Amino acid sequence: MAQTAPPDAALTAAVTEIAAEMAAETERGTVATYIPQLACVDPNQFGLAVVTASGAVISAGDAEVAFSIQSVSKVFTLTLALGALGDDLWQRVGREPSGDPFNSIIQLEAERGRPRNPFINAGAIAVTDALLGKGEPVEAVAGILHFLRGSAADERIAIDEAVARSERSTGFRNFALANFMRDWRIVQNDPARTLDVYFQQCAIAMSCRQLAMAGRYLAWDGRTGPGAARVISAERARRINALMLTCGHYDGSGEFAFRVGLPGKSGVGGGILAVVPGVASIAVWSPGLNAVGNSQLGSLALERLAARMGWSVFADG
Ligand code: GLN
Repeated sequence: MAQTAPPDAALTAAVTEIAAEMAAETERGTVATYIPQLACVDPNQFGLAVVTASGAVISAGDAEVAFSIQSVSKVFTLTLALGALGDDLWQRVGREPSGDPFNSIIQLEAERGRPRNPFINAGAIAVTDALLGKGEPVEAVAGILHFLRGSAADERIAIDEAVARSERSTGFRNFALANFMRDWRIVQNDPARTLDVYFQQCAIAMSCRQLAMAGRYLAWDGRTGPGAARVISAERARRINALMLTCGHYDGSGEFAFRVGLPGKSGVGGGILAVVPGVASIAVWSPGLNAVGNSQLGSLALERLAARMGWSVFADG
């Protein structure tokens, strides 16, 4: 998509206005409670950060506050697993939207343990298992953190251990998914070892600024900016974006594509990473979720930002 970069002044105005509009919203969704530690998060927070082609970061609201990235981590583990296994990864996970909730188990039995896509929980657990390979969980976690710190150019990114512990002690459904896939050899490690990595990757804490920075390689065809260092191939970046557009919001993916028109990946911490190819990497965060587990205000803010800036992967430039 060949879009020209907007002047930063227009973008700064849009970002500032949208943050003010979100602060006034009363319909803020509901904070996730099934991971007890996430239930403690103040729902009256909102952050937005946009990295442009020039490398400028334009932000508003609570854009510097670290939050639990949860399923947004699945984009980064997919990137790493594709790097490690190449296209062999697709033997273990599909590329179709599921149309089911993020933690659903129902398709797994009908489809011989192979999850529909890498962004539902089952698919992300299979990807994490592939990434773990025959290695140690501590090494896999270190590799994920190393990748994020490098792509965000920020060494402070870390795991919120309280969130990881909280999910490990209550993640019975994820244990069920992993055990079922272990039976089909889609998961090949001891499920507890794979989930040890999965719970920690989900518990990585990042601010909107850090997340938008980390997502740059998806916005610039595998590079951190126009002409900058290559992180992954252009083809792989495009394919990850395609999966974000079709599967990044679970059974809300069609609605997000309809309203926002950009590849995006959400997490139950209330974060969303969205990509305007060639133009911007965007992170938004507000902890209250809609009925399908995507950030209520995050989705609304992205819808307004995309509309005001004329951003859409379906635009003619
Ligand atoms: N860690 C969460 C889980 O496995 C991630 C889900 C999400 O963000 N949608 O349930």
